[in-house]
Order: sequence, then structure tokens, then C-alpha cells
Amino acid sequence: MDTRKQQMKATLQRRIDALRAELSTLSSDIWSRPELDGEETYAHDTLVRFFSQEEEEQTWTVQSHYKLPTAFRASWGPAGGGGGGEGEGEPVLNVGFLCEYDALPGLGHACGHNLIAEVGAAAAVGLKAALQENETELPVPVKITVLGTPAEETTGGKIDLINAGAFADLDLVFLAHPAQQDVSFLPCVALDVVSVKYHGKASHAAAYPWEGVNALDAAVLAYNNVSVLRQQLKPEWRLHGIIKHGGVRPNIIPDYSELEFYLRSPLVKDLCDLKNKAEGCFRAAAMATGCRVEITYPYHAYHNILPNATLANLYESNGKDLGIQFPEQPATFSGSTDFGNVSSIVPGIHPFFYIGTKALNHTEEYTEAAGAEVAQLYTLRTAKALAMTAVDVVCCPDLLRQVREDFGLAKQKHES
Ligand SMILES: [Zn+2]
Ligand SMILES: [Zn+2]
Repeated sequence: MDTRKQQMKATLQRRIDALRAELSTLSSDIWSRPELDGEETYAHDTLVRFFSQEEEEQTWTVQSHYKLPTAFRASWGPAGGGGGGEGEGEPVLNVGFLCEYDALPGLGHACGHNLIAEVGAAAAVGLKAALQENETELPVPVKITVLGTPAEETTGGKIDLINAGAFADLDLVFLAHPAQQDVSFLPCVALDVVSVKYHGKASHAAAYPWEGVNALDAAVLAYNNVSVLRQQLKPEWRLHGIIKHGGVRPNIIPDYSELEFYLRSPLVKDLCDLKNKAEGCFRAAAMATGCRVEITYPYHAYHNILPNATLANLYESNGKDLGIQFPEQPATFSGSTDFGNVSSIVPGIHPFFYIGTKALNHTEEYTEAAGAEVAQLYTLRTAKALAMTAVDVVCCPDLLRQVREDFGLAKQKHES
């Protein structure tokens, strides 16, 4: 089995190298036409075209506009999956690769999601080539599914896809995200977004201010209450926000104001405490000013990512074979991703990768780096390491069992 594994790993690397030009064009096309969450039509079409045209012996089955207007699904291999090879009938192991492709307002691809799309596409076509050579000799038939998952930066497209059943037949999921260094796991934290609206009463601000109820005052007090609360929060918790609406003219007592805050904690179960504390701040401001307050959570909550030590170790070992260096002490990170929700229903990994710059995500410098030629070497190397990790698992039922055990234990630990 070991020789076969090595052959498969060599095949997938050759296939990815052979498609280097197409893959680079794929991500630079997406990079040059940045689209916001839910509006990623061009990126969707570009990826759908890529999978519709990628053919050596057998082609992908491509579903455009899959469950969401800018999501897609490309699959290859036998029907089935998601039963973990333990269900009735012919067992099938379904390996998923996820492509993100949304950009940021005013900044373009400052989070490098064009490269996430490229990694997903490259890893999938690489693994397909390796499987085609060895299909009959695997312990269980393997299928590949690529999911295009829009709107990561805001509304959580993956969560909409989970709710629509798009992950139900997947057994493993892989995604890699651009960052400042190569890390097999970073504990991305849980996130929820709260919208706070104050309703007051308008009045002439100089002639009859006493007739008004000032909604801007409520917003300012709420903002300050949260600033005071912050000292009492645990160091890993985050509570940060903006005033989205604060009145229309100085000579009118504002009758409406609106704030939006992000709440983050390492574990999704702690968000509840944080929400209660923040809501106290918002209600106190309403009481002090006489405004009516409306508190809503307009989007899906993002879960923290569940670790999977077996997949992370395999990824590191494959990465090292390709020359990737992993730091002894990876940096801490307080970002969040809708992959967290995926990781709590399907075993998977979400490593981060260096793209040739120390610039930080969500900056203009990072946008430039995500579109630069130098990022290609690191992106394709990451795709190879992901696909090689998939090869390890599909060739070895013991490893698959271990991956599932890690998943079960992480769920117990993080969710109870
Ligand atoms: Zn991102
Ligand atoms: Zn981002």
C-alpha cells in the first residue's frame, strides 16, 4: 500500500504541475474581478467553466447555482458517500474540497479567497488523477466533491449550504486559507453579529429639544457601555462595533440610530454569556434615554473550528515533504470562519498558508500579494499537501477511523 500511496502522491503532483498555467489563470481571473458576498457571479462562472473543461478520461458532473445563486458543486466518482463507508449497499468515501471566492468592499481580494478557490480546484483535480490510476485497488471506492461556497466574509454561505443539505453526503472536507505563515491548525473563534436599533422622537434641536427623545445619545451610551464592559471580558473574547446610523442633521434630535457589533469567543457555547453582557449595555442605554431598543442577530453564528489532530499531523508531514516549514509556536489568531460550522458536522481541516508576504489580511498590501505571481508556488504546494493528505486517508482505513475518532472527541470537548 505504501508504494501505491507514493505513486498516487507523485501522480497528483504531476497533474497539478501540468495544470499550473490554467490554475494560475483561474485565480488571477477571480482576483481581477473582485465580487462581494453573494454577488460572486463571475467567480462562480469561472470555476464552473474550469470544472466543465477539466477532462482527461472522465469528466466532472457540474451543478451551477447549486442551492445558492453563486454556489456550485462539481463531483466525480461513484454515487453515494456520507455513510462513512459503513452504510448499506456499496460504501463510498466522499472527499470534499471547498472553494471560497468572495472579496472585500473597497479592498478587492484582501483575504486571498481567489487563492482558496485555486487550492480547492488544484487539490481536487490532482486527487482525481491519482484515483483514476488506482481506482480498483483502494479499500473503498472514492468520490470527490468540490463545493463553491460563497459569502464567507459576512453571511456565512457554508451555513446556508449546510442547512440546505449540501454537506450531508461528505465524509471529509479540506480548505486552505492564505495567511502570513504555514500552520496546520489555528483555533478560529466563534462569532455572532448583533444589530441594535434605537427608536426615539424627532424635535427641533434648538427650539424644543425637551420634546425629543435622542436616539443618537442612546447609541453613544451603548458604545461607551460596551467600552467599559470590555475590561471585564476574558482576554480571548472580542466585542467590536460601529455606529451605522446616527441622525440626519444637527438641528433635528435624531429619532433613529443603529449600531452593529461583532461578538467573538473561543467556543461557540460561550457566546451566550457574551451576548447577555452586551445586551445589558444596549438596554441600559435605552432606559437612560427613553428610547425603544430593538436587538436582533441578523446572520448565522459562526462556530469555532474543531481541531482534527490526525488530519493536521498528516498535512504537516506531507507539507514538510514538499518543503513547507511549520513554526514551532504558531501565532494566535482571533479571526472567525463559517468553516467552523462545517468542522462540527464533517471531519476536516482548514490550514493556513504563507503566500510570499508578511502583509496582513484585509489590507491593500495583501490584495496585491494575493494577485502576485510569487503566491502561485505556495498556493500549488498547499494544494498538493491537501490532496496528499486525502490520499493517506483514502488508502488507509485505520487512519480514517482515527480521523473520525478525533472528530467525535473534539465535538464532545468543545460542545459539552
Ligand atoms: Zn478569509
Ligand atoms: Zn477575511
